[in-house]
Amino acid sequence: MAGSTETIRVARVWIADGCIVCGLCEDTCPEVFDVQADTCTIRPTADRYFDQRQAQVIQAAQECPVEVIRVSGFNEPSDQRPPLDRSP
Ligand code: SF4
Repeated sequence: MAGSTETIRVARVWIADGCIVCGLCEDTCPEVFDVQADTCTIRPTADRYFDQRQAQVIQAAQECPVEVIRVSGFNEPSDQRPPLDRSP
């Protein structure tokens, strides 16, 4: 897994294609991740929690079984970030 949990600051989180809707990310950080019947999204209010839940966001990204959780500065190059924080 790329990146360091000690040096990044979570600014953007999004879900790439391929989520298998396992629910693990919401169990880890329910303030940020919203798992529905057939998809997982980032909650509209998630950015309020990026600072205080940084460790949980990174943990969720690390533990996602199909590695589709993208966190800016952690596992995604800056030139591949989507234009909006909550883009899938
Ligand atoms: S942990 Fe990964 S696969 Fe599971 S619901 Fe969250 S984004 Fe989807």
